[in-house]
Amino acid sequence: MLIVPEYFYKETIDYVVSTLPIEACGLLAGLDMEVSRVYSVHNILNSPLRYSMDPFGQLNAMLAIEKLGLELLAIFHSHPQGPDHPSQTDIREFLYPGVLSVIVFPDGESWNMRVFQINAESYEEVKWKLV
Ligand SMILES: [Zn+2]
Repeated sequence: MLIVPEYFYKETIDYVVSTLPIEACGLLAGLDMEVSRVYSVHNILNSPLRYSMDPFGQLNAMLAIEKLGLELLAIFHSHPQGPDHPSQTDIREFLYPGVLSVIVFPDGESWNMRVFQINAESYEEVKWKLV
């Protein structure tokens, strides 16, 4: 189960809202499955339907995570127009086995997220908890 403190949940949602209508993306890091850092990374595709993390921004975030002695727990991205689960492209292009995928999506007036483990051909939902 992924543990997401409210502060970092809000930081993630705020970032997702700030990039609208473009898909947002970034990294969630922490220890023992508890998020303690959010790294936003520029979506170089500037698309409302697809994302690709800026390689330099992603590398900087990975180096910062390593320097802090944290683990990369999840890669997040938003689906401003849904769906609330990984797309075929997300499954096909996922490069990080063992790292969770967080999808942030609009839910009524607000936003929500779901967590997945993407495998070679599909995905499984993983529980998460707001603390
Ligand atoms: Zn996606």
